[in-house]
Amino acid sequence: MELSYRDITYCKNVGAKRADILRSELGVRTAMDMLRQYPYKYIDRSRFYRIAEIADEDTYVQIVGEVTEWHTIGIGKAQRLSATFNDGSHQCELVWFKGVQYVKLAKGVKYLLFGKPSRFNHTYNFVHPDLTPWNKVTPEMTQGLEPYYNTTEKMKKSGLNSKVMRSIIAELLPDLRMGVPDTMGMDILQQYRLMPLTEALVNVHFPRDTQSMQNARARLKFEELFFIQLQILRQMKRREMNEGFRMPLVGSRFHSLYKSLPFELTNAQKRVIREIHEDLKSGRQMNRLLQGDVGSGKTLVALMCCLLAVDNGYQTCIMAPTEILANQHYETLKKFLEPLNEQLHMNNEEAPYVNVALLTGSTTKKQREPLHAGLRDGQIHILIGTHALLEDEVQWRNLGLVIIDEQHRFGVAQRARLWSKNTMPPHVLVMTATPIPRTLAMTLYGDLQVSIIDELPPGRKPVHTVHYSLQRRAQVYSFIHQQIEQGRQVYVVYPLIKENEKMDLQDLQNGYNELCEAFPEYRISMVHGQMKAADKDIQMQRFASGETQILVATTVIEVGVNVPNATVMVIQNAERFGLSQLHQLRGRVGRGADQSYCLLLTDMELSNETRKRMDIMVATNDGFRIAEADLQLRGPGDLEGTQQSGLPFELHIANLSTDGQLLELARHAAKEILDADPMLTDERNKMYKHRLDVLRIEAHNWADIS
Ligand code: ADP
Ligand code: MG
Repeated sequence: MELSYRDITYCKNVGAKRADILRSELGVRTAMDMLRQYPYKYIDRSRFYRIAEIADEDTYVQIVGEVTEWHTIGIGKAQRLSATFNDGSHQCELVWFKGVQYVKLAKGVKYLLFGKPSRFNHTYNFVHPDLTPWNKVTPEMTQGLEPYYNTTEKMKKSGLNSKVMRSIIAELLPDLRMGVPDTMGMDILQQYRLMPLTEALVNVHFPRDTQSMQNARARLKFEELFFIQLQILRQMKRREMNEGFRMPLVGSRFHSLYKSLPFELTNAQKRVIREIHEDLKSGRQMNRLLQGDVGSGKTLVALMCCLLAVDNGYQTCIMAPTEILANQHYETLKKFLEPLNEQLHMNNEEAPYVNVALLTGSTTKKQREPLHAGLRDGQIHILIGTHALLEDEVQWRNLGLVIIDEQHRFGVAQRARLWSKNTMPPHVLVMTATPIPRTLAMTLYGDLQVSIIDELPPGRKPVHTVHYSLQRRAQVYSFIHQQIEQGRQVYVVYPLIKENEKMDLQDLQNGYNELCEAFPEYRISMVHGQMKAADKDIQMQRFASGETQILVATTVIEVGVNVPNATVMVIQNAERFGLSQLHQLRGRVGRGADQSYCLLLTDMELSNETRKRMDIMVATNDGFRIAEADLQLRGPGDLEGTQQSGLPFELHIANLSTDGQLLELARHAAKEILDADPMLTDERNKMYKHRLDVLRIEAHNWADIS
């Protein structure tokens, strides 16, 4: 029977109980599922060591020699067996704590010893080594690379360790060698020089040598990435066929704003607005991601896009992740629009009119009624807000464009809800200040078109970043003092761990008290997530207006806050922040004409990874470089939002932080197929469509289990 249909229960070395566990722990149902459990590492069994050659602890080695002497210590459960192993010139110790009664040793017999040494009392020790009499050693055992498999606690308890996994898979090899149907066509295999599936599965588990192992893994990674790209790009093709509101006009509101700006748009801003306008007039629904480093001027781009839509008779909204941000966008937009609306006050009938409104959790019921009415009858052109925008009561006359700021805070489900409020889906622009490494952009946001603002407004000085240990507080304080004396303002940020908000708040309060003591002559604001929105606003406002010199805060100020006179960002316990978060925080300064500084304060003792993070922050201000480094250090699984933005299928072997090149190739291959056959209806592409169905069902079943 074909391996894809063979129930794992009836495979050798499995049985009903293990089959249950394989299903619940790994999602394995068939023999083929089992073959798709790839090893996470290999150990070279073709190499033999001498005891004198052992250099590393914790690296597996195999040695040929004899057991010269052994004795048991203790009784019952505490019994332990200790033996001396000699390779002819040196000796080492072997120890068993468990299963002592099963260990059979004999003198004058040649053994193959295999295990992981650790150094102890000047000799090497092997705990629970594999010891095989030399006459029982088969050539296969010492040929090439031995695979190791991930197991869970539950699996181990039922004896399903890596070795048993290996034996189950080894039993499937003869049937596998007879050949399994490939999931990719010959043309792709040839074009990208990939191993056929049969050969790849044999060699991923039991490779002849390193080269064939790498080729096998490359093929399987490519396959994984290929189907993810095929799925994403197919969705994109479908969406591209969605009709969209036509907004061809560049009207008076847009022109008036453009003329009234106190500065010239950067070339990058102009290019991005052009790209977006192309989408808006195309008659197809726009789904675009706008990436731009902090301070690159995304808010203005968003406003100009809104005006494009409004000039064409549509309503728009901008959704922000926090109330502070929504408020701030509202204020910023109103300020930009002042010159336009002033003309109106001067009774200029031709004057373009833009009505901006704000809707957040703290908007009162009384305020809401006219607001809802204004949205229904189209009086309100631009609505700015938080999640509150998604409430059912919010009904539009003709919502034509949705702008979502800081995408990573919003789930895709919420995005979908916004769309469904309309018969025709509005255009969607997602803005993010967290630069996304290309590999992630291609997978997580692969169904969006991408625009990048890769240029900061002129005259910005790069923020000068310094890393201090907490011991040098006095120096930090004197620097703060000096900057404030020059008329500048200072942020001091404390980390926030959600699990223990009380303790975090305590840290913040202590920090605040300390600063009050250190700077009795200055006024200090404090904001944190537990405060009422109105109180937060008051505190922020006091800082923004210059009434207070220092703002003590948790990460609520992370995104978007804009106070150009603030030139110092002090980050307490910087080791507790991720790289992209640190970069976001640093982006709060360096917004005015003065030189700005970011002080990273950490403990003395740092892990290697933390040290690297601090070094990168000190070395560069480039958000893309930081995002790449973040991906390398943490791996993609950890990145904020990865979980909820979600890949269509899970990755089992490919790694987004290291397999960028394969990803490019896989995307290229998928794109070629879909360009020629968007619906995958050609006879030769049916296999791909079928495989996507299978993967979707698997992903679905698996989500049900876990
Ligand atoms: P982002 O949201 O991308 O982090 P903002 O939109 O907050 O950046 O812009 C940062 C600051 O730069 C704002 O004060 C904004 O008014 C200003 N700004 C935007 N575009 C330009 C430009 N082309 N030239 C000069 N200043 C600009
Ligand atoms: Mg912004």
